[in-house]
Amino acid sequence: MPELPEVETIVRQLAPRVEGRAVRDIVIADPRWCEPADPRAVEDALRGQRIDALRRRGKYLIAELGSGTALICHLRMTGTVLYDPDGDPPHTRVRIDLDDGHRLRWVDPRRFGTGHLVPDREALDAYLDARLALEPLDPRFTADHLRELARGRRAPVKAFILDQRRMAGVGNIYADEALFRARIHPLRPAGTLNRRQIEALREALIASLKDGIDARGATIDGYRDVDGVSGSFQDRFLVHRRAGRPCPECGTTVVKLVAAGRGTYLCPRCQPRPRTRTGARRPSAVNRRG
Ligand SMILES: [Zn+2]
Repeated sequence: MPELPEVETIVRQLAPRVEGRAVRDIVIADPRWCEPADPRAVEDALRGQRIDALRRRGKYLIAELGSGTALICHLRMTGTVLYDPDGDPPHTRVRIDLDDGHRLRWVDPRRFGTGHLVPDREALDAYLDARLALEPLDPRFTADHLRELARGRRAPVKAFILDQRRMAGVGNIYADEALFRARIHPLRPAGTLNRRQIEALREALIASLKDGIDARGATIDGYRDVDGVSGSFQDRFLVHRRAGRPCPECGTTVVKLVAAGRGTYLCPRCQPRPRTRTGARRPSAVNRRG
């Protein structure tokens, strides 16, 4: 599923190509994309509009249009935006032709991706503010901010990271990678992280997202950039999807468990399980062997 680095990759590639261009024509072939809005009404509203700016917030892709309206898109599971593909690829849901002759195609096999039109910048801000918190790459996302977010939270830290209303843009891949880098067990209650772990987690989130952007995203569910090229971050995963393989730090076998309802990967040695509620410690395998 595209996360912050994948959407950022799309924006960096696409913005210089589409900003200042106008929508010559648009066909919404799948009404589910913009429901409950009427696809014909959305097409009429977008036709002829100049794209002033293309940007990202969290995992949302946002086109700010000349009239003050904005189109807010979310790729969800399998959405992809392609620039000048050969013909219309299979599963093309939306076709946009620009006034410079170039073509955009929204391709989405599972059809969960969305496009939502808002009438003005105020409505745009309200839409995003209702759904998204600060993202780790925001300069205001300090250790103090993260500590404040985590304070008193009993939810496992993995679920805490995935909650877009607490921090925006981090999904399953980057959560696993960041927790490994910070040496934090995914099931540890977020509120029990100490000052050092909070700082480590903040740095690890930022580093994982930046590495993902540098690798132009990760391709595991068919994600492609706007030129149809796969990302490469999946080749750099430290623990995510690496169950049964050695931890890159210590060689211990990476294991998979379920946290926050998601397949979660960790090194049981680098990310020790938190002590139980009573504080009782189970004897470790090393101790039993004497
Ligand atoms: Zn390890």
